[in-house]
Amino acid sequence: MAKILRNLPQIQSLLEQPLIAEVAGRYTQAETIEALRVLVGDLRAGLIAQETETLPDFAGAAFAKAVATQIDATRAPCLRSVINATGILIHTNLGRARLAPAAVRAMQIAGTDPSNLELKLDTGKRGSRHDHVEALICDLTGAEAAVAVNNCAAAVLLSLMATANGRAVVASRGELIEIGGSFRLPDVIAQSGATLREVGATNKTRLADYANAIDTDTAVLLKSHTSNYKIVGFTFAPERGDLAKLAKEQNVILIEDLGSGVLIDLSPYGLKDEPVVADILKAGVDLVMFSGDKLLGGPQAGIIAGRRDIIGQLRSHPLMRAVRVDKLCLAALEATLRLYRAPYDPMAEIPVLQMLCEPASGVNARATSLADALLKRGIKDVSVVPAAAFVGGGTLPEQDLESFAVTIDLPAVNARDLMSDLRGAETPVIGRIEREQVMLDMRTVRDGDLATIVQTLAQISGI
Ligand SMILES: *Cc1c(COP(=O)(O)O)cnc(C)c1O
Repeated sequence: MAKILRNLPQIQSLLEQPLIAEVAGRYTQAETIEALRVLVGDLRAGLIAQETETLPDFAGAAFAKAVATQIDATRAPCLRSVINATGILIHTNLGRARLAPAAVRAMQIAGTDPSNLELKLDTGKRGSRHDHVEALICDLTGAEAAVAVNNCAAAVLLSLMATANGRAVVASRGELIEIGGSFRLPDVIAQSGATLREVGATNKTRLADYANAIDTDTAVLLKSHTSNYKIVGFTFAPERGDLAKLAKEQNVILIEDLGSGVLIDLSPYGLKDEPVVADILKAGVDLVMFSGDKLLGGPQAGIIAGRRDIIGQLRSHPLMRAVRVDKLCLAALEATLRLYRAPYDPMAEIPVLQMLCEPASGVNARATSLADALLKRGIKDVSVVPAAAFVGGGTLPEQDLESFAVTIDLPAVNARDLMSDLRGAETPVIGRIEREQVMLDMRTVRDGDLATIVQTLAQISGI
């Protein structure tokens, strides 16, 4: 082995090979050197691990082609499309909500052309970027005023900075949530400069617990939607209306972090515990905040809606500039919000809601058509099985949605390796493993993705 290792050529001498010099001419010298380093490095590692026994013909066309392929790979975008076959509708690692075509078109226009982002077209005076979505949000939620920021985490931080301004925030011990590993409510409250006053117990917090905690230093009662966990058994939390009454009597502000936040009642589709934003504001909550890219089905954003005076404070707060949304987001958000109003039906227009309300028979039909196409292509060990899909995005972890999946059991490849091959495909396919089998859940897959999945699996099986 030591001898063959010594036969590995120097990068400089490889560059002098005519076919490689030709590659360097087509691409750049620097990219070619980098690609040669990678390929020779892989060969060296293969020799040491005794997986490689012979060296390629470094002067040949095949090696030059490998160099070009390696350069192409580094030129390809890092952020790429994948097929979401996880059955998790709002998968944070896969970019959460898919945008509606209307939202994508709006982003394209906002990105291509100058716009009236901060210009009042009637007077020619400077306008506010926030105006493009405020009226729509108010119309859909019944709020007096609204504003959008970078995401819901930013919405919570900004709201607490502006309203508590270093004073005390009262929150129930049962609602001190952590989302996605880095957003921990107690830490966010601390970062806002406010002090957290925890009240009640993990499972039960009563109105009196809130009332007893309020003193002259208290600015905010903070309620949080425990979106990614559920406390079951003997539990109690006061009604929103009662909390709102208490807040008003004591002259403090009631804020609710909703996380997902839905604009329309989704209980007919099986989502029973997602409160509708308009109902929460009607119950007397002063300020609510929710994500743009969870069940709303739009771009990443944090929407804050509620009392006009408080929204005014947020708009003029120094942190607003740091968390404001950009024009692409505003364009997509406005277009998405419009799909909630006549003449549109949001359940038909917004991809997240389409996936949510598709009848199980439609999902089953997609699974069957994928299984049939795979069989026709010669991939035999596939079957259609009932599965449970989930909303995801930290929302409703308990509630599963009836779904169907295709399981794939290739004779020569174990499930873990198959998952890895699927991830490594030109269009990566992201599934999940259950009972040692790869499952592709069809609730989150589009009909248009099926041909790509068949092609990918055929390639992996070498047929
Ligand atoms: C998801 C979530 C957040 C964070 O929202 P981002 O838009 O991801 O910043 C905050 N609070 C709750 C309750 C959530 O579910």
